[in-house]
Amino acid sequence: CGIVGYVGAGSACTVVVDGLRRLEYRGYDSAGVAVVADDEVRVVKRAGKLTNLTKALAELPPTDPLCAATSGIGHTRWATHGAPTDRNAHPHASADGRVAVIHNGIIENFARLRDELEAAGVELASDTDSEVVAHLLAAELARTAVPAGGPGSAVPAGGPGTGAPSGAGIPAGLGRASAAGGVGGAEVAGPTSAEVAGPAGAVLVDDAPTGTGLVAAMRTVCARLTGAFTLLAVSVDEPGLVVGARRNSPLVVGVGSGEYFLASDVAAFIEHTRDAVELGQDQVVAITADGYQVTDFAGAPAPTHRYHVEWDA
Ligand code: GLU
Repeated sequence: CGIVGYVGAGSACTVVVDGLRRLEYRGYDSAGVAVVADDEVRVVKRAGKLTNLTKALAELPPTDPLCAATSGIGHTRWATHGAPTDRNAHPHASADGRVAVIHNGIIENFARLRDELEAAGVELASDTDSEVVAHLLAAELARTAVPAGGPGSAVPAGGPGTGAPSGAGIPAGLGRASAAGGVGGAEVAGPTSAEVAGPAGAVLVDDAPTGTGLVAAMRTVCARLTGAFTLLAVSVDEPGLVVGARRNSPLVVGVGSGEYFLASDVAAFIEHTRDAVELGQDQVVAITADGYQVTDFAGAPAPTHRYHVEWDA
């Protein structure tokens, strides 16, 4: 029912939970957050009021890496498929634990997708329509992964030892594990669209040459879904990145300075920024600490509506 995503320098948990509180007026039956911390996707979720979630988070030791994470996603659920229980609360993690997803709306073809996943040996952990998206993203990430040191993992021009260190040229905070594999210098190429916002027009997530990574996986998976969805996802392999997508359900980007937000409603981030970008139908957005990037489900730069929020929240 309510969706919040954050990448920046602050505590993702705090920003996301505060954002969810701002969306409480819509009504909900469960709440949860996911962050990438210490090479792990961490999910905390509870049925019932937001205070059930905040209590669970408060029980973590202050040294827990979850508390230090600077990117994450959060959800308040209004159950449509599956009872309002801890297990059915969002985020949903993939079976391999590498991806977590939150969803507003209804995936109408989820039964067919669930059957396909079960036939492939995936065990579903909830009764929701949403969980299939986590497993489909993980499968797509596995299918498109660039093998480390294998074919396609290009040696820098000039041979071993002379090239830039792996990952050079990737904007800070992006942390794409696969970026060294054959993307070359594409990350620092000039802007490809007016929808890329970042210092010096840096291309934040230039996955076009390889089709790898969470953004590309999100596009491919969304093209298979029918119904209504706002989706946000995080992946272990790209810790400074939150990816969103929408169809028949709202999604807005909050443009801060050195921090970016995604939400189903501007109310979620209004205390941080009033600069907003409304996504159009069938679009995918990536946010990092350096900016945002919007494309359609085919990967082409997509037009969006940027505006200033005037009203008092
Ligand atoms: N259909 C999903 C579920 O039942 C998402 C509901 C929502 O929009 O909160 O879990």
